[in-house]
Amino acid sequence: MPRTLIEPFRIKSIEPIRVTDRSERLRLLEEAHLNVFKLRAEDVLLDWLTDSGTGAMSAEQWAAIMRGDESYAGAPSFFRLQSVVREITGMQHLIPTHQGRAAERILFASLCSAGQIVPNNCHFDTTRANLEYLGVDARDLVIAEGLQPALVHPFKGNIDLDRLEALLKSDGERIPFGMLTVTNNTGGGQPVSMANIRACAKLLHAYGKPLVMDVCRFAENAMFIKLREPGYADKSPLEIAQEMFSLADAATMSAKKDGMVNIGGFIVLRHEQWLERVRQLEILWEGYPTYGGLAGRDLDALAVGLKEGLDEDYLRYRLRTAEYLGEKLDALGIGYVKPTGGHAVYIDVRTVLPHMPIEHYPAWALCNALYTEGGIRGVEVGSVMFGKRLPDGRETYHDMELVRLAFPRRMYTQSHFDYAAEVIGEVKAAAGAIRGVRIVRQPKLLRHFSADFEWV
Ligand SMILES: *Cc1c(COP(=O)(O)O)cnc(C)c1O
Repeated sequence: MPRTLIEPFRIKSIEPIRVTDRSERLRLLEEAHLNVFKLRAEDVLLDWLTDSGTGAMSAEQWAAIMRGDESYAGAPSFFRLQSVVREITGMQHLIPTHQGRAAERILFASLCSAGQIVPNNCHFDTTRANLEYLGVDARDLVIAEGLQPALVHPFKGNIDLDRLEALLKSDGERIPFGMLTVTNNTGGGQPVSMANIRACAKLLHAYGKPLVMDVCRFAENAMFIKLREPGYADKSPLEIAQEMFSLADAATMSAKKDGMVNIGGFIVLRHEQWLERVRQLEILWEGYPTYGGLAGRDLDALAVGLKEGLDEDYLRYRLRTAEYLGEKLDALGIGYVKPTGGHAVYIDVRTVLPHMPIEHYPAWALCNALYTEGGIRGVEVGSVMFGKRLPDGRETYHDMELVRLAFPRRMYTQSHFDYAAEVIGEVKAAAGAIRGVRIVRQPKLLRHFSADFEWV
């Protein structure tokens, strides 16, 4: 058998990449106030800012777009999506939304009040922001291994069950529900094992608390379980996903991830008791419950995408792309969150810029360098994203400095990854020349999206 794993698709429609040079990129980055979020996408060679909504749809999905029915209420597109969601999740009540954070906002506003605590392995940034906006304490309880970038562990997204139980004992009356994020985006795209999902659900249920899963990357998580957890090698990703969902009471989904579409999301509920309140807020904020902020064609593309995202050949290639770049980083002596996650590689910036002081935001600095040197756009996951400016003007910092390179689905090929590895190697070789940054303007919430910086 040949060892090369090929992209299990071929190209029918292409988008050209505009080639730029270093001096042009430096000028563009300075015009963007040293914040790659503010660059124009056409000025980027490899756009690995996010895997969210950036992937390529299949011919079948484009065909489904034509089937989309735009009736305001009760469109067949909704029922086609509902039947796929019911098959995968086993849950009856589908509430579509325009993207994942809208699902979070509606569900949290329905279930939470100020002063409560919501535990999770790690809250994603919009999940945390939506909870904090309501005055809820978003508590991260990932296992200790999940916070050590260099440590290899098959399920670094697992929640620490002892700490969860201690929290349920000490503050149970303040906890409306528990959460699990699969895969754990913030912690490196790391999977959660079936055993951990099962034990977490059992523990929460013993205290009368529901389990809400953030399932943006449920298919990648299912594939990791197939590859790594004893007893699952012969099960299909769909069967594994069905088992994962069978343990949850509700889920929020950003369909821009494993839904394989460019926009969309949903809430899915097992029980009826939350449905009325959720539907009221849905109508107020998103639209009528059979379209929820989406066009009928979006619902149809998602119905097809959810199944394609569970295709085993696709998932094998998908997880291999990240692993492949990881192997190249190993050869360059660059650390990253190990093992590689499903959708991204998270470079451990301390292995590239060990001497840069934390006040100069080393992960932000590396992000800028990857763009300037190679036109690669990644995202900082460090002290800009998770630090805060306190009322007295002091800054808090994050315990990891990472740069996330997140891969759009079915879009880039092996030579793009080879090129990226070369750029990263060159940046490391000239690490002494990389300049740190300071923040000159920042908003209060989600500051990394729009803050302005200057060179230190
Ligand atoms: C992307 C994401 C969200 C939010 O979804 P959007 O569609 O971007 O609003 C929530 N949780 C996780 C884990 C995510 O990756």
